[in-house]
Amino acid sequence: MLTLTHRRKTRAVMVGEGPNAVIIGGRNKVILQSMCTTKTQDVAATVEQINQLEEAGCQLVRVAVPDMEAAIAIKEIKAQINIPLVADIHFDYRLALQAIESGVDKIRINPGNIGRKDRVAKVVEACKAHNIPIRIGVNAGSLEKKFLQKYGYPTAQGMLESAIEHVEILEELDFHDIIISMKASNVELALEAYKLAAERFDYPLHLGITEAGPLFSGSVKSAAGMGALLSLGIGDTMRISLSADPREEIKVGREVIKSFGLIDNAATLVSCPTCGRIEIDLIPIAQELEEYIANIKAPITVAILGCGVNGPGEAREADIGLAGGAGKGMLFKKGKIIKTVDEAVMLEEFKAEIDAMYKHYQET
Ligand code: SF4
Repeated sequence: MLTLTHRRKTRAVMVGEGPNAVIIGGRNKVILQSMCTTKTQDVAATVEQINQLEEAGCQLVRVAVPDMEAAIAIKEIKAQINIPLVADIHFDYRLALQAIESGVDKIRINPGNIGRKDRVAKVVEACKAHNIPIRIGVNAGSLEKKFLQKYGYPTAQGMLESAIEHVEILEELDFHDIIISMKASNVELALEAYKLAAERFDYPLHLGITEAGPLFSGSVKSAAGMGALLSLGIGDTMRISLSADPREEIKVGREVIKSFGLIDNAATLVSCPTCGRIEIDLIPIAQELEEYIANIKAPITVAILGCGVNGPGEAREADIGLAGGAGKGMLFKKGKIIKTVDEAVMLEEFKAEIDAMYKHYQET
């Protein structure tokens, strides 16, 4: 599969430690993240959701830390999860210090909102001591008053100036493990802001179209925005923000980065749109296969096509393919026909071949 090669070179920032640590930036694969919808102090529910997210392919997860109870709960949560954990903090430096004390792997806080310099310095010191990066999250919806007054409304330039201020506070303290996000719910504004940030900084960028909407419309809007940025080589980690189960955010995110070949632990499905030449009941089969391959953590391309006219050509291009035709299906593996099977057993046979290919991939 072709992969995007013109990616912006950014500073590599390590998050977490051990086998599940991730590197954000440095032209590594795009790291997919999501955010828990549970109350962080409800440790059991939060751990359950994080483990479900990991199963879905989430590599980094954020929890809200609105109070001390949540900051303390991080310790218990960390003991029961595998993927690195991010604490989302607004203003209160004591929450940041407690989250770090509790073992969090990254914090999201805007240093300019902490207030006194000695307080910022304490947070930075603790981050340095524990190798914890900081994400600066500039958001059009909560842009500082002075930039709103200067430009009249949230603009990309105003967002950039806000980011520069926060970054400079950290740089003055000789802190550079920084990740930046420039989120907006308006796609055009987010694109402009991310482009400006990509020109100005070499820190990795966390992509997001914030408050994108419910599952369907939010997915399309996010894909439009993130696709445009990824195609320019911009983006090192991403969160799709949906009013939906956070596992859906991961599903959508995986599809977006798969489109650019920026993931190596997911299978891709090619399926035809069907037309008047269709010779098998393809749509339910394609839907079933989409669910089936969601569990495959390998870069295998699977194709399902509906007729003997265009089907074989496309099926040949995939790692494993099935072309339907008059109650039968032709199975292809790496460009060669391996067998022809009856439509009644075609799907089961195809799944067995997919499993065999995945097993082979895992063993080699
Ligand atoms: Fe139509 Fe065949 Fe193409 Fe599917 S593969 S859209 S059935 S021509």
